[in-house]
Amino acid sequence: MIRSEAPPEPRTGEHQALRRGASLEAGAAVRMTRFMDEAFGLFRAITGDGVRQTLRLLDEIVPVGQIEVPTGTAVLDWTVPQEWVARQAYVVAPDGRRLFDMAETNLRLLGYSVPFRGVVPLNELKAHLNSLPDRPDLIPHRTSYYAPAWGFSATQHEVDALEPGEYEVVVDTELFDGSLTYGELVLPGDDEREVLVTTHTCHPSLANDNLSGIAVAAEVARRVAASDHRFTYRFLFLPATIGPITWLATHSDVVPRIHCGLVLTGLGDTGPLTYKRSRRGATVIDRAAELVIGRDEAGELLDWYPSGYDERQFCSPGFDLAVGRLSRTRHGELREYHTSGDDLSFVDVDRMVDAGGAVLRLLGAVEADLSYRNLSPHGEPQLGSRGLYGGAWAPADRRAYEQAILWVLSLSDGDHDVLSIAAASGLEVRAVAEAVDRLRHAELLAPV
Ligand code: ZN
Repeated sequence: MIRSEAPPEPRTGEHQALRRGASLEAGAAVRMTRFMDEAFGLFRAITGDGVRQTLRLLDEIVPVGQIEVPTGTAVLDWTVPQEWVARQAYVVAPDGRRLFDMAETNLRLLGYSVPFRGVVPLNELKAHLNSLPDRPDLIPHRTSYYAPAWGFSATQHEVDALEPGEYEVVVDTELFDGSLTYGELVLPGDDEREVLVTTHTCHPSLANDNLSGIAVAAEVARRVAASDHRFTYRFLFLPATIGPITWLATHSDVVPRIHCGLVLTGLGDTGPLTYKRSRRGATVIDRAAELVIGRDEAGELLDWYPSGYDERQFCSPGFDLAVGRLSRTRHGELREYHTSGDDLSFVDVDRMVDAGGAVLRLLGAVEADLSYRNLSPHGEPQLGSRGLYGGAWAPADRRAYEQAILWVLSLSDGDHDVLSIAAASGLEVRAVAEAVDRLRHAELLAPV
């Protein structure tokens, strides 16, 4: 075998190519921590200033545009609701103590409570209290978005300690014709087909569900913006359920261009990275997840099921998009789920950095997924003379790289795409992508 000098690196533009692998930018942990600290106390709901302020805080990571959709807009089978503002809410006990004050934590007030002022006896008050008998030390997060109601959340211990008597209730809220706010950032690529990354923004003081998802999505957007990428990327920061329904209803021109997508939520707990397959189950994002998450010893793959987060809308049968979900522990299985236990101490920013890296590997795999044709298919082409085999220059994991060169040449018959080569070879997608780049540079490979 003839050995030669290392060939120059293939040109990939001035930025790092997403398909070759990327990690979050330096300082991600610090930026995400600062964002969560500042956003935690804001009173988010499916509408309102808490969402607007939260989206504005993302400017420190990546600027996200704010779109307002007016109350009353018909969206699929739904209507954009009234906007809600909560000014103050509390209960005064017979002995004069102030209870369940939303100034203490916004989890105290039932989300979308209608205004109410009055004096009620204990048994009537109790009909408006939410608590968790099985987790008596935690305050539950509750909302009533589509049925008018008022209410408070309390620990079971607090409820059990209430004395009979008359209680003064103050729910100073307002529902009015305003708008629904969502955040959107579009990063155009050479290909007008789009990759969606979405996350929900409507939960109040809960850290894992879903400040972690918002922060990771923003850091991923920052990295994609600084990378070479083939597809157009659209990052959506949406109130749960009504958000994706509103976006889908108002973007019928974009929907046919959606190549695939990923819903991000609950990425800061200590559970394993868990990918939930799209309804179709074997789309490009599902295949990428098999290789990126499924091969990780700690990773888990779930088949589609119709409950969960916003994948419910993107994968509804009328749209049936190639959208999966990345989380850690399944949401119903955490003791802290939708309670005061999901506070800032519950999330680990290192787990979020790790999750962000996994998202980038998933997107990188989607980017890399093209089919090629070996231009020298009769016998093996001479690799050594082209600097593609051996030599001191080879990457640290030279064996994997050389294997990748052989696998790509062998399977590039036009019928195998990069993901299927990675699946067959057991190699990482980014190793296959690197081999593809070098073989193309040596003019031994051409895209089909
Ligand atoms: Zn939730």
